[in-house]
Amino acid sequence: MTQQTATAPRWTRQAIDDLFALPFNDLMFKAQQVHREHFNPNEVQVSTLLSIKTGACPEDCKYCPQSARYDTGLEKERLMEVEKVLEAAQRAKDIGSSRFCMGAAWRNPKDRDMPYIIRMIQGVRELGLETCMTLGMLSPTQAAALQEAGLDYYNHNLDTSAEYYDQIITTRTHGDRLDTLHNVREAGMKVCSGGIVGMGEEASDRTGLLMQLANLPTPPESVPINMLVKVAGTPMENVEDLDPFEFVRCIAVARILMPKSHVRLSAGREDMNEQMQAMCFMAGANSIFYGEKLLTTSNPDADKDQQLFKRLGITPEQREDYSDEVHSQVAHEAIEKAREPERTPLFYDAMER
Ligand code: SF4
Repeated sequence: MTQQTATAPRWTRQAIDDLFALPFNDLMFKAQQVHREHFNPNEVQVSTLLSIKTGACPEDCKYCPQSARYDTGLEKERLMEVEKVLEAAQRAKDIGSSRFCMGAAWRNPKDRDMPYIIRMIQGVRELGLETCMTLGMLSPTQAAALQEAGLDYYNHNLDTSAEYYDQIITTRTHGDRLDTLHNVREAGMKVCSGGIVGMGEEASDRTGLLMQLANLPTPPESVPINMLVKVAGTPMENVEDLDPFEFVRCIAVARILMPKSHVRLSAGREDMNEQMQAMCFMAGANSIFYGEKLLTTSNPDADKDQQLFKRLGITPEQREDYSDEVHSQVAHEAIEKAREPERTPLFYDAMER
């Protein structure tokens, strides 16, 4: 059953189409106004994304190099050791990230995965970072267990409009996605949900995607807007490029529709020059991923990002509830804890299922 459709829509299709139809400068101005009402325009939240289990996914998302159905040359990996995840989280914190996102290429987590996942969440939290995971579909029980462990955000993208969805994924429905978002909300976690543009969709599909996100009972706190990364071997490798200005418009419209959400400039940033990224920040994007890899596609390295921030006078948004001393202490303790011999093995083969 799809459960997130009950409330009256905040935004109509016509209102959103009208925003997209504005002259570019007018749309940018409006987005800046909305942005400044709710955020410091010179701060950008920084997250790091780590793939904790890569490849061999049974799903058939046509854009994804991690699907077992496409030959993309991606090496499949086992579920990462808890200790290694915590070390990566510490490095992420050291380069200025405030949130650590962990992604696994699963249809959904199995019960036997949960103890490892829970220890990762607890360890990353003890480092003083916000935690986010993307593990596929979640049952209400699993969502409750993740929340109990301290997970702050769960990422589950709608990907595209309900109308275009079947062209992109056939192994899970659009309604399944809404159900997972509902389970995440019911469990009391924050929602990270957005989509991908440039997948050959129509303009009406971009409107449909943003309309659905903005009309969720509570809009997602975090809204990643991805530009398709065309990976050789996937069915999307030769899809036509989206006009970069259309991408900036999507960011601006997302900012206006969801004024209190962090709009994240996400996958595809590697292919954008600095001017394009700056335009996205002007349009209201205020979150990015740091780090070399965005799950399995490359991402501008953190140092390049820091240089761009400096030139634009942007500073990373800080969490204010932890001191550096506390960070270092808990980092040490969390890594030591993960090394304790009486604990269950840190690592197992998630492929054997
Ligand atoms: S997007 Fe996620 S669910 Fe879809 S194939 Fe890739 S890893 Fe699997």
